[in-house]
Amino acid sequence: MHKILTIGEILVEIIATEKGDGFRQATPLVGPFPSGAPAIFIDQVGKLSQASAIISRVGGDDFGHVNLARLEADGVDISGITVDPLATTGSAFVRYRDDGSRAFVFNIRDSACGSIRLDDKAIALAQSCSHMHVMGSSLYAPSVVESILAAIDIVKAGGGTVSFDPNLRAEILESPGMREALRMVLAKADVFLPSGAELFLFTEAKTEADAIAELLGSGIKVVVVKRGAEGASYFDAETTLTLPGFAVEEVDPTGAGDCFGATFVSFWLNGAAPHEALEFANASGARAVMISGPMEGASTRAELEAFISARKD
Ligand code: ATP
Ligand code: MG
Repeated sequence: MHKILTIGEILVEIIATEKGDGFRQATPLVGPFPSGAPAIFIDQVGKLSQASAIISRVGGDDFGHVNLARLEADGVDISGITVDPLATTGSAFVRYRDDGSRAFVFNIRDSACGSIRLDDKAIALAQSCSHMHVMGSSLYAPSVVESILAAIDIVKAGGGTVSFDPNLRAEILESPGMREALRMVLAKADVFLPSGAELFLFTEAKTEADAIAELLGSGIKVVVVKRGAEGASYFDAETTLTLPGFAVEEVDPTGAGDCFGATFVSFWLNGAAPHEALEFANASGARAVMISGPMEGASTRAELEAFISARKD
């Protein structure tokens, strides 16, 4: 069986319950919720009963505990998460604006996960995995970038594959070395999962078709474009396929892309046809937005099957 690895930030998310512009006034909050894009991704992989592991670092505090307990309960191998008693678990405060955009206050680089390292135990864990998923948001510190690139090489040396979701946030795009790191990961990816303008990050192309052709010509095997409520499209050398999104009420969009990607990659690795992988991924993203909290909307396979069949009746 394939085992999927990711490396990156584990955070708690604290959500403002009232919409508005950022955090310059006191505002009611709810949380902590387990979060961090790679953590959400790997939790969704675990919930699908697909073997999975994450290399990360948390503090010896309740915020770390919230994440360790959830990931373990959902079947993720947490042996690669170091608990650092002297550090504090990362956090993200998020508040929605009326137009649907989000303001974040992140504590990532200076938290426990700012000092993720590939120690001997993590190297052995990477050697046991056959696929590596990278979130662009995880390229926030040079040492983490180094760990991710080293793990990619380990997994590829064992014949494994790599997927990459740029998952960009304006708040962290200008971290030192971020753009160069994004480019290096893209060059090693087999599956690329951009949303919106992320498709055009590293191409001069002006149209979507040109950008896709350039990416597929550069060694990427599969491009999946996420389109929010509109659904998603799949592209490889032979197949172009677009499926509409499932009609649901969007309560909280955070985590949709991560659950979508986790479900797509799990199905793809297990040899699913593009239509099936895309349909289950769409269902996973749709279910994620129906529930408040970043990781709260992750789905089991049975939940996805029930969700899809209820909408085919
Ligand atoms: P994130 O904010 O988590 O990074 P993203 O930009 O990576 O998200 P989106 O395109 O927002 O990704 O969402 C991923 C997938 O989730 C979509 O392709 C779609 O399948 C599903 N999805 C997202 N929003 C909705 C919605 N409102 N209704 C139905 N499905 C949705
Ligand atoms: Mg995303």
